[in-house]
Amino acid sequence: MSQQSVVGVIGFPIKHTLSPVIHNAAINALGLNAIYKTFEVRPGEVAEFITSQSKQFLGTNVTIPHKREVIDCVAELSPVAQAIGAVNTVVRRDGSEENAASTFFGDNTDVEGFLVPLRELSQAGGRNRVEGGRIVILGAGGAARAVAYAVREFGPSRITIVARDPRQGDRLFRDVEEGIAAMASGSQTIALDEAVLDVTTFDAESLSDTIRGADLVVNATPIGLTPFGHITPLPEAEFRASQIVYDLVYRPRETKLLSDARRDGAHAIDGLEMLIRQAAASFVQWFGVEMPVDVVREASAAALNEDS
Ligand code: NAP
Repeated sequence: MSQQSVVGVIGFPIKHTLSPVIHNAAINALGLNAIYKTFEVRPGEVAEFITSQSKQFLGTNVTIPHKREVIDCVAELSPVAQAIGAVNTVVRRDGSEENAASTFFGDNTDVEGFLVPLRELSQAGGRNRVEGGRIVILGAGGAARAVAYAVREFGPSRITIVARDPRQGDRLFRDVEEGIAAMASGSQTIALDEAVLDVTTFDAESLSDTIRGADLVVNATPIGLTPFGHITPLPEAEFRASQIVYDLVYRPRETKLLSDARRDGAHAIDGLEMLIRQAAASFVQWFGVEMPVDVVREASAAALNEDS
């Protein structure tokens, strides 16, 4: 019998992650001889951890605070990881016959994970199209960076970052633009140049107008996370039926922001769907087979219900 393959997630500290439930449900459903583990790795020790693993280690997810540190541990980065400056997935690449040493590849599947539910909605047609629309991103941290990069796919007319420190929003735009410019040296021509980019604060008077005018509102802050599930980043907001409200928070699954959006008839997308889709985009790179997302959705929803 072949030896069990190992994948996992590295972070520090590492607790309350749903990733083992997601991946192990998929591994079991497919009958793979593998396991997904959590690895608590201290800052500064990421390279040593990755390079000291045996060949059974196929790669790992990467979470806070290692998404930047891990860049120095990989031989190659995907264009997305390069543009955002953050890696959430490491994949072992076996060496050649001449050089048996493995190398590691770094990707960022948060972008794909974020986009899949929106693409599916768009393919389903109907009212909730974001192409060419106005997009508001709450927060300017790591997840907001992935979202700002991702939404270019829809050719937005405006992207507004809402940050409590506006300098953080400015930095985000500058970094994402620079990252894109760096990778656009080949045949790719991708830019944020068609969109008006602006940054505002949570307490700006104009915020409610900005939210009302948006086609897609994304919460990329931890506001609303358990045990503060009764709090919303937009307590004053009234939504429109044609809007999409997307909350990256997945604990609780139905945040106050999403229930407010549903109350007003808007389309709500929860963070669990993004989490599952980013996991699926990592899984296929390690195992070469698609993640059975229906099985995983059921297992992770059950795990979240146990939480509450
Ligand atoms: P992060 O890098 O720490 O960024 C968080 C951002 O939210 C920062 O801009 C921060 O501003 C802002 N923020 C925090 N508390 C705030 C408050 N009370 N009022 C206003 N702004 C506030 O975290 P992240 O990695 O981007 O993650 C953000 C959230 O997305 C987390 O809840 C995470 O679990 C979730 N997430 C979900 C998925 C998924 O697959 N569903 C993937 C990634 C992330 P300051 O810098 O001023 O503190």
